[in-house]
Amino acid sequence: MLKIGSHVSMSAPHYLLGAIKEALSYGANSLMIYSGAPQNTRRIPTDRFKIEEAQEYMKEVGFDSDNIIMHAPYIINLANTVKPEVFELAHSFLVEEIKRTQAIGSKVLVLHPGSHVKAGDEVGLAQIIKGLDMVIEQVDMKDLKIALETMAGKGSEVGFTFEQIRDIRAGVKDNSSLGVCLDTCHIHDAGYDLSNVDHLLDTFDDIIGLEHLSVIHVNDSKNIKGARKDRHANIGFGEIGFDHLLEVIYHPRLAHLCKILETPYVNKKAPYRHEIDMIKSKEFNPSLLELIEND
Ligand code: FE
Ligand code: FE
Ligand code: ZN
Repeated sequence: MLKIGSHVSMSAPHYLLGAIKEALSYGANSLMIYSGAPQNTRRIPTDRFKIEEAQEYMKEVGFDSDNIIMHAPYIINLANTVKPEVFELAHSFLVEEIKRTQAIGSKVLVLHPGSHVKAGDEVGLAQIIKGLDMVIEQVDMKDLKIALETMAGKGSEVGFTFEQIRDIRAGVKDNSSLGVCLDTCHIHDAGYDLSNVDHLLDTFDDIIGLEHLSVIHVNDSKNIKGARKDRHANIGFGEIGFDHLLEVIYHPRLAHLCKILETPYVNKKAPYRHEIDMIKSKEFNPSLLELIEND
């Protein structure tokens, strides 16, 4: 069965329970959440997340907790060598974020590898490896995977080539808990061609190994291939296009993975219910944006 969902919010007062209900309202059987605001490190204790209520509810409605994906906040930058305090915060926050992910019962924590902030790709990559080594040594990862996200290469981001992701995985001493998150908008912006998905997956398999994939982010892109911009578009309304995204979503080699939409809101309204409808029916609806607006 197709595992499809979107980013949903986990906020007061219902937290995880509210997140599950939001996902169900979109017709989703998967979801992705942040443990708090993605732009800051303020977090409330997990005992307020309504985890037990959510677990009971999931059993009731048949929502598989393996389809809950977490995303670490953007401010975690393990690649920073310029400001030691940024690296130290990234390290300590990631340790706590892993514990929160485990408390929630999610097995995948998506992480942006980081930005080298003018130190260069090589220095940034080495610092990420150092940081991941420290984190993995310090916490019991159990069956949790840190999914390194393929990036668009905006600014000084690293992890925008499959080779860089491979090098991070290869550099980390115990990489058994290091997975990968493939983001369609990001790889397109980084220059990968989504018009031949089979070839793309072969390339990924040769360099990283498809067995290391933990989750897929499905987004269209507002910019042309190789633009290195990272601006997501609604499904079928960008430069990748509906058919190529559908090929990714329904590709047999990716069938076991959750597909998560992170497409933009339209007029402050979540597009996900309509996008998921369109994906399930496999038919592009050119008036989708009006549909969302009129919700
Ligand atoms: Fe991300
Ligand atoms: Fe993403
Ligand atoms: Zn993005």
